Amino acid sequence: MPDATLQLRNLKGIWRPVYARRLALHATADAVVIAAWRADLHGLNLAPAVDAWRLVFGEALTPAERHRRQAAAQAVAATLAARNWRRTRAALALAAQRAHRAGWTAGHALVTRDEADDSDLDEPDNPYTIGSPDLSDDRADATAAAVLSSALTASATRAGRAMADSAEDPEGDAEELLAAGLDLELAADVAVSASYGAGMLAAYLGAGAQAVVWMTAGDARVCNLCQGNEDDSPYSLLGAPSLPAHARCRCCLAPA
Ligand SMILES: [Zn+2]
Repeated sequence: MPDATLQLRNLKGIWRPVYARRLALHATADAVVIAAWRADLHGLNLAPAVDAWRLVFGEALTPAERHRRQAAAQAVAATLAARNWRRTRAALALAAQRAHRAGWTAGHALVTRDEADDSDLDEPDNPYTIGSPDLSDDRADATAAAVLSSALTASATRAGRAMADSAEDPEGDAEELLAAGLDLELAADVAVSASYGAGMLAAYLGAGAQAVVWMTAGDARVCNLCQGNEDDSPYSLLGAPSLPAHARCRCCLAPA
């Protein structure tokens, strides 16, 4: 059984290529999803939403500041809901599929290789029926739809707050925040981590592994939730808490 805690700054053996791949995977997914989001945002106009919201709430600050923000968020959410986000959804689904395959590749190496072997990882070329390296299109779409939905809600809340708090340019301030895509980066992170974790489990399942341990990054930034998951290890393959424990979670599941 490996040490339950990784040292991200001092990765040894097989963990070195595993984490190098994972970081590259997250960076690529971020870039691809944000590019798709900006393409999907093109031509978005919040002016009608701002007008409708102003009709009810006007310019003046009121004591009901929170209500004013909520109404702005609802106005933005309605505008966002009217668009199809086709590219963003496809980019998220693709990121999920790539992450699943990368997770499988890492998991497969972890169960089949010597732990001290730090050579690069080989991609699988055979399809497996049990513990497949690939995430089905349906599951990838479902993952993309779920994270996109929560990202749209969070984006509307963020942009609505900017709109309500803006002194001069509610429309411009809200549109700028949407274009920054902060919530889409979190959505991409969650889609990648969840699929990566599922891919690792699929590889362990395919290899007949019996148990896994939750491994934290082993530094001062590890949160209580993740530390608790590590402390409660090992788990059966189907009983392990699912990755990620939260957005930007750096944990992974290792064979016990
Ligand atoms: Zn974590």
